[in-house]
Amino acid sequence: SLRFISSSFKAADLTIERNPALKPKPDPSTLVFGKQFSDHMLTVSWSEARGWQAPQIKPFQNLSLHPASSALHYSIELFEGMKAFRGVDNRIRLFRPMLNMERMYRSTERSCLPVSHALLFVIIGPVGPYFATGGFSPVSLLADPRYVRAWRGGVGEYKMGGNYGPTIAVQSEAAKQKCQQVLWLYGENEEITEVGTMNLFIYWTTENGEKELVTPPLDGIILPGVTRQSLLDLAREWGDFKVTERRVLMKELIDALDDGRILEVFGSGTACVVCPVGSLLYRGQTYQIPTMKNGPDLAKRFHKELTDIQYGRTQRDWAPVI
Ligand code: PMP
Repeated sequence: SLRFISSSFKAADLTIERNPALKPKPDPSTLVFGKQFSDHMLTVSWSEARGWQAPQIKPFQNLSLHPASSALHYSIELFEGMKAFRGVDNRIRLFRPMLNMERMYRSTERSCLPVSHALLFVIIGPVGPYFATGGFSPVSLLADPRYVRAWRGGVGEYKMGGNYGPTIAVQSEAAKQKCQQVLWLYGENEEITEVGTMNLFIYWTTENGEKELVTPPLDGIILPGVTRQSLLDLAREWGDFKVTERRVLMKELIDALDDGRILEVFGSGTACVVCPVGSLLYRGQTYQIPTMKNGPDLAKRFHKELTDIQYGRTQRDWAPVI
């Protein structure tokens, strides 16, 4: 009788407890991702007996957890990540926030949250530019079919912590082999799925001589990235080349590399917008990927178009002012 699952909470009920001890603002040049946080946090708690409680903004503080919390033992938890941008007009914009909210809602359904006690909390922190030097720097990838990030029937398309913990060891295996990130393959045919915690795009000339942007489809093993959706939306609006969501096999990528048909390979995600791929270690062989040699014209075009929207240089309803 979880009669309060569908209860809700309202901004009008928000209580605010100010932090009396504000920290000095960090020097933007020393920011480390995930290390600095703001002075306040938002919490909303849920219990079976009372449903959602009033939201609270209060000083940033540690959580107090029962040692038997199922989040710790069974990873019954989920998360979201998005950025707020201070624009050229000094106003602050989010980027397509409802896509994050819808994705979070799908993750809650798959996790059966809220159940027992549950806590929704929001923490925020400043991040510096992803490519500190201003220009793109390409990443090197390890593609090893022994490792799998997600599988059909599993939960790879949800943002549940359980998808991420097991990738740490694989990431460190990649680092041992002097690769920066993992290219996740899936199945007997070695489908290409994602790269690190980014969606993957290949821009190539097809065997028929057509220019095509291709990315794996949302068929259960791909995290539906907000950036991925935005690149697809932009590319379809431009209409300058074919845009395809379909399964891509490792063999197709290697054949296209051998034929010189690969133009650009890049990851997409909130952190970097787009991140060029420069090389690939696969079955003991290193393949150079000519992304940087080709500009990368398309990756740069996407990066400019999206950051112009995010920083308010281009007006678009994708970036509501808050
Ligand atoms: N794939 C995975 C596995 C991710 O964790 C993320 C980050 N949310 C992405 C792709 C990129 O998604 P987004 O564009 O929404 O940041």
